[in-house]
Amino acid sequence: MKKVAMIFLCLLILILPSQVFAQRKVPILIYHSIDEFKGHGSKDLYVAPKNFEKQMIYLRDHGYTLLTFDRWQDIDKVNKPIFITFDDGWKNNLNAFDIFQKLKNERFQPTGTIFVISDFIGRSNRLSESDLKMMADSGIISIQSHTVTHPNLTKIKNYEYELKESKDKIQKVTGKPVIALAYPYGSFNNKVVAETKKYYSFGLTTIPELFSEKGIKDELYLLPRIYIKYSTTLDELAKIVEGD
Ligand SMILES: [Zn+2]
Repeated sequence: MKKVAMIFLCLLILILPSQVFAQRKVPILIYHSIDEFKGHGSKDLYVAPKNFEKQMIYLRDHGYTLLTFDRWQDIDKVNKPIFITFDDGWKNNLNAFDIFQKLKNERFQPTGTIFVISDFIGRSNRLSESDLKMMADSGIISIQSHTVTHPNLTKIKNYEYELKESKDKIQKVTGKPVIALAYPYGSFNNKVVAETKKYYSFGLTTIPELFSEKGIKDELYLLPRIYIKYSTTLDELAKIVEGD
């Protein structure tokens, strides 16, 4: 009997790592402008609305569940979790909102997160307070923080201002909790993470990989994100989200 138990235990140990501990890999995509590129700024910080729509249709047709950070705990509950994020709060993100609304049906409930620079709210080309409130109220878009002035956080001292003020202002505009911070330029260090932890539950980097839970310290403040560029094809997107 002991022998049988030993064999069973050995088999279990052999099987366990691949089965039970199979790592779920979660893509967190980063976009900036959802618009035609008209020759201003960096082309790779744009994705044409038509391409964005095709990408979202791909995700819909392949069974992805689009989540926001307030549903983080659902990554273990839903089919193929993925996060769609937009940095800098461009006015043209309304194009993404329209596409989400258009594709929304009973089975597919697209959602995304816009990281806004709180001092830039209402500038020309940027989302206004009423845009943010309207999108947050829709339940389709979560509005989160990208600091007050978009500094390189590894080079500043006024953390309370950049981190807390932006959180407070955005919460006041949307009436919804701000729990995630996208580090401007993806720049962070130990100090930045320690300061972020005072006010936020999540910190977003631009480390280009899929998220998988490793149990390392502060991993929710080191969330990786993969850029989707103007030139990213549907085949490339498919490979990115499948983790190939
Ligand atoms: Zn930015």
